[in-house]
Amino acid sequence: MLYLLWPQRAGTPAMMPGQIAKFGNSAAQLLLGGLAALRSFGNGEKDASAVADDSQQDTADLRDAVKQWREVFEHNPVMYFMVDPAGTVLNVNTFGAAQLGYTPAELIGQSVLNVFFEEDHDAVRRCVALCLETLDQSHTWEIRKFRKDGSVLWVRENAKAMLRGDGTPIVLVACENITQRKEAEDALRQSEAYLAEAQELSRTGSFGLDVATGAIVWSRQTFRIFQCDPAVKPTLDFVFQRIHPEDRDAVSRTLDRAARRAEDFDHEYRLLMPDGSIKYLHSVARALRHGSGCIELVGGVTDVTVAKEAEQRLRRSEAYLAEAQRLSHTSSWAWDVRRQEFAYRSAELYRLFGFEPNQIDVPARAFQERILPEDFQRIIEVERQALRRRKPFEIDFRIARPDGSIRRVHTEGHPVVGSDGEVTEIIGTHVDVTEQVAAKEALQRAFDELKASEQRFRDYAETASDWFWETGPDHRITKISEHSDPASAAPTALIGLTRWDIPPDAELEPGKWEQHRATLDAHLPFRDLVYRGRDRNGSPIYVRTSGKPLHDADGHFLGYRGVSSDVTAAIRAEQAEDALRKAQAELAHVTRVTTLGELTASIAHEITQPLAAVISNADACIAWLDREPADLKAARRSAEWIVEDANRASEVIRRIRALAKKTEIEVVSLDINQVVREAVALVRRELATHGVSVRMELASDLPRICGDRIQLQQVLINLVMNGIEAMQANVDHPRELAIRSSLTDDDDDDRLLLTVTDRGVGLGKDVKERIFTPFFTTKSGGLGMGLSICRSIIEAHAGRLSAFQNEGSGATFQIALPLPHKDTS
Ligand code: ADP
Repeated sequence: MLYLLWPQRAGTPAMMPGQIAKFGNSAAQLLLGGLAALRSFGNGEKDASAVADDSQQDTADLRDAVKQWREVFEHNPVMYFMVDPAGTVLNVNTFGAAQLGYTPAELIGQSVLNVFFEEDHDAVRRCVALCLETLDQSHTWEIRKFRKDGSVLWVRENAKAMLRGDGTPIVLVACENITQRKEAEDALRQSEAYLAEAQELSRTGSFGLDVATGAIVWSRQTFRIFQCDPAVKPTLDFVFQRIHPEDRDAVSRTLDRAARRAEDFDHEYRLLMPDGSIKYLHSVARALRHGSGCIELVGGVTDVTVAKEAEQRLRRSEAYLAEAQRLSHTSSWAWDVRRQEFAYRSAELYRLFGFEPNQIDVPARAFQERILPEDFQRIIEVERQALRRRKPFEIDFRIARPDGSIRRVHTEGHPVVGSDGEVTEIIGTHVDVTEQVAAKEALQRAFDELKASEQRFRDYAETASDWFWETGPDHRITKISEHSDPASAAPTALIGLTRWDIPPDAELEPGKWEQHRATLDAHLPFRDLVYRGRDRNGSPIYVRTSGKPLHDADGHFLGYRGVSSDVTAAIRAEQAEDALRKAQAELAHVTRVTTLGELTASIAHEITQPLAAVISNADACIAWLDREPADLKAARRSAEWIVEDANRASEVIRRIRALAKKTEIEVVSLDINQVVREAVALVRRELATHGVSVRMELASDLPRICGDRIQLQQVLINLVMNGIEAMQANVDHPRELAIRSSLTDDDDDDRLLLTVTDRGVGLGKDVKERIFTPFFTTKSGGLGMGLSICRSIIEAHAGRLSAFQNEGSGATFQIALPLPHKDTS
């Protein structure tokens, strides 16, 4: 387009750098030349008349030329504008006007600025001013216009100012439509920008390598990846310097093969950066063979460090997760609700259900079949509700593995809602709680048993007369069991006291307490310590206690725990028994002495008789010695009788002394027949005096027994004396006493029996029942203690004294004594 712009002489217009250039060689230039020729003819009629004088031929030629050039002007596919210095369009060709959506008539006479964007007006003015300042010089620039319909039209304008015939300047402008090129340029620029952006974002750079020359072309991002100054030309040496030493050989081999065989490649390698860090690169390249036969490797290189590290981290965390799942017996899964199939399942899930973790093709159905049917029904129901409510759920179920084992599982699931608002997945975990459940059940059982046993002990404690206690490390009482029985002797209000603070016998038996405290200080157990205490009413009681030391897991002494009982009754009984035993012994002694008193006459006879014999034998001995010659043989015989009688007398005295003596019980091995003979010897005179004959039937070879000689003789004497007395009234039948010794026939219970049988009055029923009762007597001068003492003496020998009424007349008293244990060794 050619147009003339008004000059701006006031100053040099600022040129847009690069937009206005020296006139070029375009079609516009050609046209401008043509128009210059037209100018020389003026415009139509007027020029024709001016040259009227010229030859007719010249006029005709000129007309043809004008017509030709007008044709060219109007229909050349170049926009031409002619503009006056005021900016008014003087002329425009039809093509130029049409390009802008106008007819020439619509533009002619209008300001040319009407087709420029407001913001470009200044630039347009500056360009045109330049043309006016530099008449006949061509300038070129590119600028936007807008069409009548508002669309943009990019043009390249060649302009030049020239003077018209009247000397006024006009500006001729020829415009080339470069909209398409501009758009292509913009698109290219944009796609380059996009590419650079994409390369940066994707950390991917591009490269080209001319195999023959080794020349390398890199994109901006490739420079960045290799940390190379973009101003420096990259070389293969530099590239290999950057590659990790361990990867250099592999990269070299790959490039070599690609170069030799024109082969594409896709490989990964590492860079060792100057700061020591490692970059992972993924490079893909095409081998292009050019027409010249040269091979160029063109490709992209992506920094995959982040992905690699993420992958490594992921792999590590997956490994940790798998390990954690294995250790915690936890498996994870995702259930695709629509497909009714697993979307994901961890290796542990396979193990839990008894599958191999690498059996990836196991269908969900196979898993479900291993769930116990009744549990599976519950799971279905819970899943249904979870889908409806979209709420997390928990459920326990059991798995039957092929090996027959049952696993108990606790599961938690979370529904995942998709973009359509529907639950698409359930993600969850299964935890194998078999061991926990078993441990819990065992614990519960143990706890129940403990509770039962505690209750049992509590019942015992509450019902028993015993009480339980605990003391601390300082031996002070910390606990005492409660008693339901208010009458219990268990002391109260003792918490904080020591055992020796309680009883009043600490001073009485200092040795006992010293020993006890030494035991406690040595943290040793103790048993059956008996001490005097007071019950809850303050009454004195005897307490027997045993305890054992307590230690914690580290062996530190915590105190004692033990049991005490009120043994007052037992102790009192023991004391009473002791007192009774003493009293009985006293009484036995008294009765013995009394008996001896009764026997004085007999005893005197026993002694005087041998003494008389001694005297008469002594006389005889003297007489035998006085004879001439002395009869020594007879004298010796008399002397021997003297010795015999004297021994008999002294033996009697010894026995009486022994009976009269108050001695402690002396248990020795005895020949029971000997004991009988000695006792009878003491009462022999008494028997004779009362006309009682004694028949002794003593069994030979009886085993020896253990007992107290004096006491057993006292019993025998007593029984014999009672027998004598019982037969005093006998007139019709003889007064006869039988003393027998024998063994029982019973193999299991060997006993030695001694019986004293008389033929006296016998035992009436009343008498028989009471004869062993102390102070029971039917005799006017009797004490009634004899048989009672006899029975307690025999019982002290673990024997038994019984009385029977004879079938005929009289009574029999039987002593049964145990035999000593046979030595089985
Ligand atoms: P005492 O001889 O002082 O009466 P005992 O205890 O020896 O005391 O005897 C108690 C009683 O047993 C006698 O009084 C007598 O009635 C009865 N008694 C003891 N021995 C015989 C016996 N051999 N025959 C009949 N009664 C007897």
